[in-house]
Parts: sequence; structure tokens; C-alpha cells
Amino acid sequence: MSSVKTLKDFTNTDVYNRPTKCKECGGIMIFKGVGEYKCEDCGFLDYDDYGKVRNYIEKHVGATSAQAAEATGVKQKTIRTMLKESRLEVAVNSKAFITCEMCGISIRSGRLCPKCEVNYNRNYEEMLRRSQNKMLMGYSTERPTGEDGAKRFVRDK
Ligand SMILES: [Zn+2]
Ligand SMILES: [Zn+2]
Repeated sequence: MSSVKTLKDFTNTDVYNRPTKCKECGGIMIFKGVGEYKCEDCGFLDYDDYGKVRNYIEKHVGATSAQAAEATGVKQKTIRTMLKESRLEVAVNSKAFITCEMCGISIRSGRLCPKCEVNYNRNYEEMLRRSQNKMLMGYSTERPTGEDGAKRFVRDK
């Protein structure tokens, strides 16, 4: 279990150009699954590189990576990396065990199990929300955590 990472260690999802801000309204893009993201404010849908390529391959079965690259604007090199990592299920033909990099359970493709992928993205969205709030309003809207508060104010009033 030594290869298992914590949420903080796992930051390489950026490789796939995860959309962070809504192109329409600047809202935060929430992870919906398989490379799809939805704006929490206006509902605008966007995709990371994986989502774009996956959509294309679903509609164009048998397309080459060159065709997919041209149609999606995603670099061929990135597509090849996805294939190698088996993030694209079309490439899953080996029986090699892949395990989730965070919790270690075996998975069919990718680097994280669906549960950890959602957790990772929720965490990331929270981080975006905090940095956006700080930028827009000049103060942090971090929710007070009951436990910390309790520790800090143990003395009676
Ligand atoms: Zn929006
Ligand atoms: Zn996991």
C-alpha cells in the first residue's frame, strides 16, 4: 500500500486541462464524471482533454489518434498518453491490474477509482472556490470548522 497517495499528493489531473472556470459566466466547473464538467452557476458544460477525446471516439469508432487530435484540438502526444494509461477504455485489452493511486483498489482504467476521482475533484473545486472568493471579495469564506473553533475557545465565557 506504499504507492497509495493522499489527496494532497495527487495533483497530476491538470495534465488533461481540467476546465476550472466557466467560459460563459466565470463560475466554478464541477466534475460530473468521465471528463465532463458543469458550471455550478449557469449549467454550461465543458470537457477536459480526456472528455473531448472520449466523446469523439464514441462518435467515431475506429478513428485514429491523428483524426481525434485534429477534431478535438488535443495534442496527439496527450492522446497517446491517455491510451498508454488506459484512460481511454477503447485501449483496455490487457489484463494487467491497475489500482487506484489513492485508495489502492483495483480499477479498469485510469489512475483513480470513480470514488476517489470524485473526491479529488470536490476537493479541487473547494480550492477553486476559496481562491475565487478571495480574489473577488478580498476575504476568505472558509466555513468555520466546529472542531477547530472548539479547540481554540475552550475557556468559558
Ligand atoms: Zn457558468
Ligand atoms: Zn480509490
